[in-house]
Amino acid sequence: MAKSDTSKASALNEKEGIKAPDTLSSASAKAIKSKRQKQPSVPYLVKGITEGNITALSRAITLVESTNPKHSEKANKIVTSCLPHANKSIRVGITGVPGVGKSTFIEALGKYLTENTKKVAILAVDPSSSLSKGSILGDKTRMEDLVKIKNAFIRPSPSGDSLGGVARKTRETIILCEAAGFDTILIETVGVGQSETAVHSMVDFFLLLKLAGAGDELQGIKRGIIEMADAIVINKADGENVKAAKAAKLEFNRALHLYPEKPSGWTPKTALCSALQNEGISEIWEMITNYFTETKSSNYFEAHRTEQNKFWLLQTIEERLKSNFYNKTEIKSELQQQIELIESGKTTPFAAAEYLLRL
Ligand code: GDP
Repeated sequence: MAKSDTSKASALNEKEGIKAPDTLSSASAKAIKSKRQKQPSVPYLVKGITEGNITALSRAITLVESTNPKHSEKANKIVTSCLPHANKSIRVGITGVPGVGKSTFIEALGKYLTENTKKVAILAVDPSSSLSKGSILGDKTRMEDLVKIKNAFIRPSPSGDSLGGVARKTRETIILCEAAGFDTILIETVGVGQSETAVHSMVDFFLLLKLAGAGDELQGIKRGIIEMADAIVINKADGENVKAAKAAKLEFNRALHLYPEKPSGWTPKTALCSALQNEGISEIWEMITNYFTETKSSNYFEAHRTEQNKFWLLQTIEERLKSNFYNKTEIKSELQQQIELIESGKTTPFAAAEYLLRL
């Protein structure tokens, strides 16, 4: 984890009243004790979550996101206890390049859904926070109206040193949100890399936001992302842009027909929308609802979730093995030495890897 992420995580933990023991001075031992005693227990948090208590939910998510092994242990227990209460929501992934209108769209959709008695949790997967100076999704003041709505819960992307780590935390957060009674989970990601694949593997429906008048190369969207999409929505279909948006819709419709049939049996749809002017939102939701009706009656919905769970089992094992390995003090110092040996041409990558794995 990058240094800035560590400080971000501990700042967040402090906000939630959770302090990592190794960040506290010995002089404040008494304070630590009372702080620790104040930390809510696992059953207390689980009860709070299942009663829909947002503070309990936020605290549990902070534990999920923490890199402190003690917190992870607690988080695992909470997630396991919440599992029987989870799985009852619909999960929608939303992607698109920066500037396409993701947050505007999610705000419009979130407002529409909460007005229609839904409880909506909005999560994000943004691995860029650890790769660059700031996160692509997190820097802006986003969804200002939605933040104020009682039945909407917004949680920014967890930070992490790998996409795998960020994705696992988000997946566990989905379970906690579902246990807290959120029936619609919207997961936002950036349209620039592998994060789409990760989000695709944790949602039921995958929506791609596009703009008219920009070629695929210009929009930086890879072919594989179009292939994953259950719907392509052309945003900013307003003002002078309407004509171009209609043309783009036709073009994408044509392009989608060139892809092989999806295992879900669903034919991907295209739609127009102006997130800014709140146009097309209800139609898009109706289309998404149709998807759920179709895939639930064909039993694809359940089968797909089981497949996703199997995939996540393997992902979690890989993630844990990797982090256990790299977090070992011995490995940390030996790895550096082996890197130096490679730099000076004194060993090969394979010999170095073999040596480290044997440790
Ligand atoms: P994100 O980076 O994908 O989250 O994009 P934002 O939601 O932040 O939107 C980027 C810019 O596009 C902002 O200035 C929005 O006001 C604008 N925008 C978003 N949706 C629409 C729309 O439907 N029509 C128009 N004209 N502008 C929009």
